[in-house]
Amino acid sequence: MQLVIASGKGGVGKSTITASILYLLEKDFVAVDADAEAPNLGLLLGVREWKEEREHIGAKVAVINQESCVRCGICYERCPYGVIKLLEGRYVVNELTCEGCNVCGLVCPVPGTISLEERRSGVIRMAETPYGFPIISAQLDVGRPESGKLVTEEKEWARSLMEERGLSHMIVDSAAGIGCQVIASIGGADATVLIAEPTPSSLSDVMRAHKVVQHFREPAYLIINKADINPGFRGLHEWAEREGIPIIGEVPYDPAVPRSMSVMKPVVEAFPDSKVSRAIMAIADRIRDILNGDRPGRV
Ligand code: SF4
Ligand code: SF4
Repeated sequence: MQLVIASGKGGVGKSTITASILYLLEKDFVAVDADAEAPNLGLLLGVREWKEEREHIGAKVAVINQESCVRCGICYERCPYGVIKLLEGRYVVNELTCEGCNVCGLVCPVPGTISLEERRSGVIRMAETPYGFPIISAQLDVGRPESGKLVTEEKEWARSLMEERGLSHMIVDSAAGIGCQVIASIGGADATVLIAEPTPSSLSDVMRAHKVVQHFREPAYLIINKADINPGFRGLHEWAEREGIPIIGEVPYDPAVPRSMSVMKPVVEAFPDSKVSRAIMAIADRIRDILNGDRPGRV
């Protein structure tokens, strides 16, 4: 079973809730942090060092051969991203912002002067969490574009760990938004749990994330975080009802959450008797049902 946790919008507490759910589940899974721009699931799970690290080669950049360049400036004029500069009489590419589109290579009048070269765009790493399950995480280098390929490689590594260790599940903490990383997270999964806050902007974003889930024809579930911060707002409930999405939990706002983050522990470990922990424990029971192939109904 491959389960994805997604939100559409950042800052709704997705990774915080995910860390606590992972803490509570039986250790028969590998966790994947698929937010390579801001990976923090490892931090929330107390990971301090990575056991293995692999370079991710995902970007291509244009390189100008200064020996054969005739300084005509056509590449400079035609680069759609304006990343070629004239420095001390030479045309040079800013590798940090080059998109690798190869327009410059196509317009250059001197064959072979501009070539596309591969560059590292980040790392994928693996750690053993202190809670008895492995985590795969990735981190993009500064200036590198977000990449679905990076998430696909993370999932491949996670799959090989599952085979090696006889693990039954992969649980993916997706990036925010609906970009390539999210599509690569949700694509091929068996179910997606969406997390949203009761605000119009979170509703709008989770609806967009749900469209991705619908595209892949996967079952979706909803968790409402900070469910009590906007009691007059019923938009999430009405939307979930309309779309037939079971709400598998409502988590109240609780200052125990930031306090647990300051000690780098899942809130269910740091403050097991808090109201937020009790709500997450009930959600973990429903996630267990989903992992066992059952479809839990509304709470
Ligand atoms: S590959 Fe594209 S973005 Fe990079 S320098 Fe050439 S034209 Fe510009
Ligand atoms: S188009 Fe080719 S030859 Fe002209 S400046 Fe650019 S790299 Fe040099």
